[in-house]
Amino acid sequence: MTDLPFDGAITQFYEQDSPDEIRRAIADGGKRDILADDYPYDRRLRHAAYAADLQALQIELAKLQADVKATGKRIAVLFEGRDAAGKGGTIKRFRQNMNPRVARLVALPAPSNREKSEWYFQRYVEQLPAGGEIVLFDRSWYNRGVVEHVFDFCTPEERERFFGQLPAFERMLVDEGILLVKFWLTVGRAEQLRRFLQREKDPLKQWKLSWVDIEGLKRWDAYSAAIRETFARSHNGHAPWTVIRSDDKRRARLAAIRHVLSLVDYKGRSDKVVTAPDPLICGGPEIWTP
Ligand code: ADP
Repeated sequence: MTDLPFDGAITQFYEQDSPDEIRRAIADGGKRDILADDYPYDRRLRHAAYAADLQALQIELAKLQADVKATGKRIAVLFEGRDAAGKGGTIKRFRQNMNPRVARLVALPAPSNREKSEWYFQRYVEQLPAGGEIVLFDRSWYNRGVVEHVFDFCTPEERERFFGQLPAFERMLVDEGILLVKFWLTVGRAEQLRRFLQREKDPLKQWKLSWVDIEGLKRWDAYSAAIRETFARSHNGHAPWTVIRSDDKRRARLAAIRHVLSLVDYKGRSDKVVTAPDPLICGGPEIWTP
């Protein structure tokens, strides 16, 4: 296993003075499957219940897709959260049975030199939905609020300008008639670690681990401060944040899909399936914990 890019890096980082729950996760290499004490449920959702709900919700997504195409609606859904919070997996379940041309994924890489010289929002504007499209952003312009700040990829002045322009920018999208949904997936520290350890040893998942993730281990508190500030400066009536507690991926995915479906009045919506998302899992920034 020594040829893996990050073999042992995660464990080494945590070996010293770690809290108990971290020690326990390390001790069994991330296999331990216990939810944090402050998670609202004792157990993860059983697979059978998850699969049944997911299928029913994906049928609703198919109806939503038909409606979006027929009426020319535009929907932009942002998925934000710490590394390993479950952004990619949630997006995958949204798109699993949808037409990739209607439900389009946007996962932009770090900006090129040319992009760095542009207006910060420019490359995201190019990706906004046309009529009949649902665009799912795996990370978004909120990079500047959190990861770019934590890693000094932007200057304090650039970040201030970002926050200054943000309300007007999002207001324009909403006034344009775009439905803008901003998800913050929140994952606890021990669960994030567990996912990193699993990624480290799984050849199918190693690509998800990057230098930013490993370095980010040391910066948990800096992330927390940047996230708190981002909520304070960008949670507002026209573009509110929806926080999803995602330590249990299954509950998180169901809640996110339910939330989007409940926001759109599409043809044929089943009120039996599209019930309100679980308030213990899905809410505003008040349910976020660092
Ligand atoms: P991801 O979690 O999206 O798979 P990483 O954890 O490697 O990717 O990086 C987190 C985010 O930081 C990504 O959106 C990436 O584009 C961004 N990022 C990485 N390096 C830079 C950089 N030099 N300047 C700006 N953003 C960067």
